[in-house]
Amino acid sequence: MGNYAKCQGSKNCSKCRECDVIKLAVFGASGNGKDSKKWEEITWKPELHLSEENNKLGKMWNISLAPVISCPEGIPCGICSKGNSPDCYAVKSFIQYPSVFQAWGDNLTFVKQDMQSFFTEIYNVLKTKKNLKYFRWHVAGDILNQEYLAHMAIIANLLPKTQFLAFTKKTELDYSNLPANLVIIASQWGSYQWGNNLPKAILRATGETWELTEKQFLCPGSCVNCKQCFQLLEGESVVFDQH
Ligand code: SF4
Repeated sequence: MGNYAKCQGSKNCSKCRECDVIKLAVFGASGNGKDSKKWEEITWKPELHLSEENNKLGKMWNISLAPVISCPEGIPCGICSKGNSPDCYAVKSFIQYPSVFQAWGDNLTFVKQDMQSFFTEIYNVLKTKKNLKYFRWHVAGDILNQEYLAHMAIIANLLPKTQFLAFTKKTELDYSNLPANLVIIASQWGSYQWGNNLPKAILRATGETWELTEKQFLCPGSCVNCKQCFQLLEGESVVFDQH
């Protein structure tokens, strides 16, 4: 397959991470069969892809990185618990749509190759947007490291009228002294508990029935008329029911 590796379908991206090693991968077998030719043509390039909307966010600028392989190693959502693909919802889009695989892989390739230029390009695009009230980091993917987080903070400082939001499972970073318009939510998943000094996102697994406290609220499923996460404070939590 030339420079490509075929996805091993290991059902455990956290353990495999083959795409991260070789940078290129073909998921044709698990993707849409009729698009298999497109998959063969995909090569990740250092190019920026911002997205203007998606089903859950509605019209809201956002960016993603290739999921799991940009996330902390061993995270529970990178492992399949049902016998098909990793539980991470973003992986489903990533391996189903060639255009998504291209865009998110390009973004990860770009930031790994030249972080400064990556963030400069993001800023140059965002500063041209009128009334940019909200920006969502990482519909897929995660904060790569402390330097990456510092760049996110710089952009938030440069665009004080915009509210920025990221969910993260990156436990080892220092999240203190971030600008108020950059909300970082500690994403928890089952026994993956962390982030005492951050607002939290909690997964209520299928079959679990525990009641929400007054500091917890249930995600209604569409951000279009919600945006509560963008104001979440330390001690508060958003709860997602697993589907
Ligand atoms: S709680 Fe609201 S803002 Fe947060 S993810 Fe759910 S719909 Fe979006």
